[in-house]
Amino acid sequence: MIEYVPRSGPPEAMHCPTVVCDACRQQVNGPGNLVWARRTNRQDGEPMQQTPLFAAHKGACDRALDAWLKRQYPEGEWLLLWEELAGFLQQLSHNAEHAFVDDRRGEYHKTILKMPGADLHNETPT
Ligand SMILES: [Zn+2]
Repeated sequence: MIEYVPRSGPPEAMHCPTVVCDACRQQVNGPGNLVWARRTNRQDGEPMQQTPLFAAHKGACDRALDAWLKRQYPEGEWLLLWEELAGFLQQLSHNAEHAFVDDRRGEYHKTILKMPGADLHNETPT
């Protein structure tokens, strides 16, 4: 998850934006993945549904997060997706400066955000 992390001195106290692993709660500052799910069994005309974005270190954290997400968003109804952190950040930086309404090459679709039934940070993914 992208979060602000408070930091004290020097040169001054500040809040630092960073990617925090949703499995171990440590900063992801190397190989990592962004993970989310998209609902697959919706009716015609029904808006797309997806989950919030989650982040994890590659390896054990990624596997633990994947298992937790599959309990929240069952396979057959939801498709888990992932993207490497570096690629995600490049796209995010581009989209922060380029409005979707100005993109004449395609159409952006309404999407409903489905929060998980449990709070990941109150559980330890296993
Ligand atoms: Zn981790």
